[in-house]
Amino acid sequence: MTLEEARALDATDALAPLRDRFVLPPGVLYLDGNSLGALPRAAAEAVATATTQQWGERLIRSWNEGWMDAPRRVGGKIARLIGAEQDEVIVGDSTSANLFKLLVAALRADPARRVILSEAGNFPTDLHIAEGAIGCVPGASLKVVARGDVQGALGPDTAVLLLTHTHYKSAERWDMDALTRAAHAAGALVLWDLSHSAGAIPVNLGGAGADLAVGCGYKFLNGGPGAPAFLYVARRWQDRLASPLSGWMGHAEPFAFVDAYRPAPGMTRWLAGTPAVLGMAALEAGIDVWADVDLAQLWAKSAQLFDILHAAGAAVGLECVSPIAPNARGSHISFRHPHAYALCQALIAKGLIGDFRDPDIIRFGLTPLYLSHQDVWRAGDLLREAVATEAWSDPAYQVRAAVT
Ligand SMILES: *Cc1c(COP(=O)(O)O)cnc(C)c1O
Repeated sequence: MTLEEARALDATDALAPLRDRFVLPPGVLYLDGNSLGALPRAAAEAVATATTQQWGERLIRSWNEGWMDAPRRVGGKIARLIGAEQDEVIVGDSTSANLFKLLVAALRADPARRVILSEAGNFPTDLHIAEGAIGCVPGASLKVVARGDVQGALGPDTAVLLLTHTHYKSAERWDMDALTRAAHAAGALVLWDLSHSAGAIPVNLGGAGADLAVGCGYKFLNGGPGAPAFLYVARRWQDRLASPLSGWMGHAEPFAFVDAYRPAPGMTRWLAGTPAVLGMAALEAGIDVWADVDLAQLWAKSAQLFDILHAAGAAVGLECVSPIAPNARGSHISFRHPHAYALCQALIAKGLIGDFRDPDIIRFGLTPLYLSHQDVWRAGDLLREAVATEAWSDPAYQVRAAVT
């Protein structure tokens, strides 16, 4: 593809106007929105309003003026993006904490089933939290198998199949329908981690018949650093599962101030403590951008952006580790390179921000809301040049920072 062809695609791109709703620093090509989404202009305003007006002037009255209801309201807005009903999603805590709540609840759902089954190389926190969750349920264990062995490892002892829908490194995507069916055929629940899927690709939890899900607010949803996460429980499970973090915000009557815990009906029982209002304000503004987005258009554009960058990598012999078939992947592209860390640093110095994942992966997020075809073409041009000129060989790029 030529730069002119990329320009022509931009000229007919229905999503192009959304770019203006984000703050994008000049001179930066930001291809890391799968790790920390860009700042929506409205989020900066929403945090300012929540601070100066709601907190500053309305003070405690604000709890009854939108704060208390925010976890359900924002959850309801996320629902459309993941194929859920509005009363099946709630926002709060982190993805890690929500994983813990749902895994323990799933283990307790059927005393005959004691195993959490997951994939080796899953996102670290998913496996770490699973390890912690089994410690809370007598007899429980964690079985971690290679990706290709997951389906065959389902059995009569499986309580819950824990999978990350889109793999954070490779972008490989599980077939949600097929794996949900397989889990159900074995009598197990399925918990989907949608952190790299929500806002990246069309997701249909309801259509797949999924039981449980969690996901991140600060990646493709653009909710800001450490944004509250979301949690999904299919309606049919809502009154049968209970959170092990039985805090007062999940109580049926938090302001009755009684000693005994009684879970609230619906999704409210998954709340633990007081919602993080300022983070929620930023997240809600990020989510509101999605109100105008056609997810089929989003996904079609993501596929085009992938092709542009894939072709640039192929031109200099870079090994792409992401699936080529669009329906087998998420919305990022990863290449393997023996000097991936230094290559990533060299590109950042040139204004192209991607990221590095140990030991040899360089990863680029494709976020169609604020990346144009030209942006990705330019990113590909920088990538081609950096690989061809061995830009990574500069010793300055070899020094590893603590946080990558
Ligand atoms: C980003 C990500 C998380 C993040 O969890 P936090 O609790 O927000 O740190 C969890 N799981 C997956 C699969 C992720 O990609």
